Formats: sequence, C-alpha cells, structure tokens
Amino acid sequence: MRNLLFVISGPSGVGKGTLVEELLKADGGLQKSVSCTTRLPRPGETPGRNYYFVDREAFERGIEENAFLEYDAHFENYYGTPRAFVEKTLKTRSVILEIDVKGGLSCKRQMPERTVLIFIAPPDLRALKERLLGRRAETEEQIELRLARAEYELSRREQYDYVVVNDDLQQAKEELLAIIQREKNRN
Ligand code: ADP
Ligand code: 5GP
Repeated sequence: MRNLLFVISGPSGVGKGTLVEELLKADGGLQKSVSCTTRLPRPGETPGRNYYFVDREAFERGIEENAFLEYDAHFENYYGTPRAFVEKTLKTRSVILEIDVKGGLSCKRQMPERTVLIFIAPPDLRALKERLLGRRAETEEQIELRLARAEYELSRREQYDYVVVNDDLQQAKEELLAIIQREKNRN
C-alpha cells in the first residue's frame, strides 16, 4: 500500500473541513497536516488542531527558511503547509492536506508521483452561499470575498485528478473513501 499526499481543495464553505473530519474518523491510516496561518482563529477553532496561528514575522521567517512545502496569501493572510511534518509523516502514513488549488498544484509539481488532487465542488453557487451564511463565521464582506474567490477556485477544477460534488454529505464521504482506497492500493 502506498503512502500518498491527498490534497482536498474547493471553495470556502463547500464542506472541506466537515468532510476531512469524517475521513479521519473513518480511515485510521490518514493523518491531517495542520497548516500555519497568520489569520485570527474563528470562534470554536483550536490552535494546533485547525491551524497553527502565527504572526506575520514568524511566517515570513518560515518562508526564508524553506519551512513550507507550499504557501500562499489569501484574504490578506498567509497560509502554508509545514514541509518537515509532511515529509516525516509520509514515511509511515498517508497525509491529507486541506489547501487551495494553487497550493495543491504546487504540491503536484513537487511530488507528482505521490500527490492526489481532489476537488470538492458545491451542487451550485446558491448552496455555497447558504453554507457560508449558515456557518456564521464571517462578516458579510468576508463572505463576498470568499464567494468571489470561489469562482477562481471552481475554474481550476479540471486540473484536479478527481471532482467530488458535496451535495449529500454521506455520499460525498463514501466517494472520497473509495478514491483514497483505490489510490493507496494502486501499484
Ligand atoms: P469549508 O471547510 O470548505 O470552508 P465547512 O466544512 O466549514 O466548509 O462547511 C461549511 C458549512 O456547510 C458548515 O456549516 C457545514 O456544516 C455545512 N455543510 C458541509 N457539508 C454539507 C452538506 N453536504 N450539505 C449541507 N451543509 C453542509
Ligand atoms: P480559511 O480562512 O477559510 O480557513 O481558509 C481560506 C483558504 O486558505 C481556503 O481556500 C483554504 O483551503 C486555504 N488554505 C488553508 N491552509 C492552506 C495552506 O496551508 N496552503 C494554502 N495554499 N492554502 C491554504
């Protein structure tokens, strides 16, 4: 069985976090990589679990030290994947990353044999907006920014290996688990 880097991307609010939690519960062979970010925690988010929350200075030091497998700036904040954790974990398990499409494509360039890109798509834009509103985590302005960014993310879905529509949560989870199993068992 191969240890792979599974990248889960898709627009903000599509259900990536919810689905990744489900995958981790269902497949003990998966380990999530926790990203670093300079954004502030949302209510209910736990440092070290959702993200490592760091200040700009610490993040920029990490960039200089090549500590990120990939990083990007969104909504005026930095987000990055810790390189050492991913490389170490891949020696024993598969790793799951929940990052944007640019970061995913960057991983694929660096580890083409090991990276599996999975895009989570909403049934439609109306459902996406309803989920963002329902999450009650952002201001209206922040939601507008995320919806504008969603169109960019959605336009890149063809570059991904798989697209899974998150309409019914259970069905999307089953589809993801099947993809993960198939890829791990491929020679
Ligand atoms: P993301 O991590 O992609 O930004 P979240 O996992 O935070 O998205 O999900 C956004 C909101 O949508 C949450 O309130 C979540 O409970 C809800 N949600 C997730 N999947 C579904 C689904 N299949 N149907 C309806 N609501 C969903
Ligand atoms: P949020 O602020 O909603 O948690 O995340 C905003 C965006 O940043 C999402 O598209 C999310 O996938 C992306 N993101 C989270 N962590 C990383 C990371 O480590 N690298 C990159 N490139 N994007 C990330």
